[in-house]
Amino acid sequence: MTTRLAPVVRDNLLASTRAWLEKPPLEPFIGGSFRAARSDDRIAVIDPGTGLTLTEYTAASAQDVNDAVAAARTAFDDGRWSELDPEQRESELRLLADLLEGTTETVAQLEALDTGKTLAEARLDVDEAVAVLRYYAGWATKAEGAVYPAPRSFLATGTREPLGVCAAITPWNYPLPILMYKLAPALAFGNTFVAKPSEQTVLSTAYFAQLCAQTGIPDGVVNVVPGAGATGAALTAAEGVDKIAFTGSTRTGQSVMRAAATTTTRVSLELGGKSPQIVFADADMDAAIEGVMAGIWTNAGQVCVAGSRLLVDRRVHDEFVTELLRRTADMTSLGHGLAPGTTLGPLISAKQRDHVVTLVEKAAAEGANVQTACSLPAEDGFFVAPTLVTGVRPGQTVEQEEVFGPVLSVLPFNDEAEAIRLANGTAYGLASSVWSKDVSRVHRVARGLRAGTVWANTYGIFHPTLPFGGVKASGFGRELGSAAVDHYTELKTTVIGL
Ligand code: NAD
Repeated sequence: MTTRLAPVVRDNLLASTRAWLEKPPLEPFIGGSFRAARSDDRIAVIDPGTGLTLTEYTAASAQDVNDAVAAARTAFDDGRWSELDPEQRESELRLLADLLEGTTETVAQLEALDTGKTLAEARLDVDEAVAVLRYYAGWATKAEGAVYPAPRSFLATGTREPLGVCAAITPWNYPLPILMYKLAPALAFGNTFVAKPSEQTVLSTAYFAQLCAQTGIPDGVVNVVPGAGATGAALTAAEGVDKIAFTGSTRTGQSVMRAAATTTTRVSLELGGKSPQIVFADADMDAAIEGVMAGIWTNAGQVCVAGSRLLVDRRVHDEFVTELLRRTADMTSLGHGLAPGTTLGPLISAKQRDHVVTLVEKAAAEGANVQTACSLPAEDGFFVAPTLVTGVRPGQTVEQEEVFGPVLSVLPFNDEAEAIRLANGTAYGLASSVWSKDVSRVHRVARGLRAGTVWANTYGIFHPTLPFGGVKASGFGRELGSAAVDHYTELKTTVIGL
């Protein structure tokens, strides 16, 4: 099926992006080539900015998934990647990073088209993916082992060895960076890989698979199985997978974990969040407002670490909310992610938009005060205006559930202890932030927060060196930084009698 593009899209695409979209390779990528999927399950690729179907693809079946795992298994077992010198793996990953960087504009355009995010946001995604690839390319030569102080009649060593076949199941909000958090360390340490992107965002992963084929990374080291939940479930049930790294909702994460129990595949889970931003009266208000805005409006709020609960000192509550709404209205240009000037794109799907609207309507029906920063654009597309919900009671659905849209719940607090109690008062524990000029308070509050990441006087800082992950219903395991060494290597103890 040829790809159909709306005028706003066609007019803003590079010729190279348009050419790629003429016939995107959306088949499973197995053993180094794209092969027709063996199923009848057709999935539409939809442009969230117009609601139009761009193209369709066939989901990978359980048989395709098993073939991909078998290709990865063979590529691992014959040592074509794991037994290369680490310098060689480093240099192939650097080449891959260079290729990706060289195609930044095309990949960013595909990502903006597929996810609805703005082109500026999509460019940052590609930059981040490149940085993560380069960071772990360096780790290929730096994961050292150990010599243990065993009794003197023995020499005991610990060596880092690859796990084998690693699989990734990823969501639709940051397809490329989240894939790279998993793929880059896995490959650096000699593992082979099977990726299952979200059924809603398959374009950038397919493009990336083509780039892999242009490097010296051997066939079968990277495999891709596009598809929805059934394809993901087939991957979690497949024999021969040594690790599954999952990022997505808490509910799906739980089913991945249940499925992995039957194969004893190890699992790491990066799940949802309901992250608090705590603003004290002594904060730099200007910086806090900007930080709160970035924390909730980025990617139209479809961010696992979205700072979706604003806890603000009662003494500054009203002026903070008024100024936040004013500045949000000033900065917002809601529209197609590829249209010049757009600062806020649509949500991923009609279903997600309806979910967000329903949660806001429920909050209003329960007595909360709902204010929006702008009206909706005239065009079709899954748009939701930036929304502030004040007068929220702790425990209300909008304050407890992950909305995954541009909706900020606001609660006042009276003192530090209440702020911490409210901040910790959900099932989640992914991220959090504290805004105050009092350094002792910052440390006290940071210590009291149950979250994988605490940002203070800033928000949403990600870097390849910084371990990232959650506690409670936000999952377990840390990606990025040196933490990934434990995720993607096995520590082997060797004891030699002297
Ligand atoms: P989702 O859980 O619906 O889907 C995630 C992935 O799981 C998709 O690839 C999907 O096809 C697959 N899947 C669905 N059912 C499956 C099954 N039974 N077995 C195996 N795989 C299955 O999540 P989503 O809607 O794509 O993404 C949004 C969610 O992801 C939000 O909850 C968000 O907070 C979370 N998220 C978390 C992080 C993080 O790092 N903590 C980052 C981004 C997104």
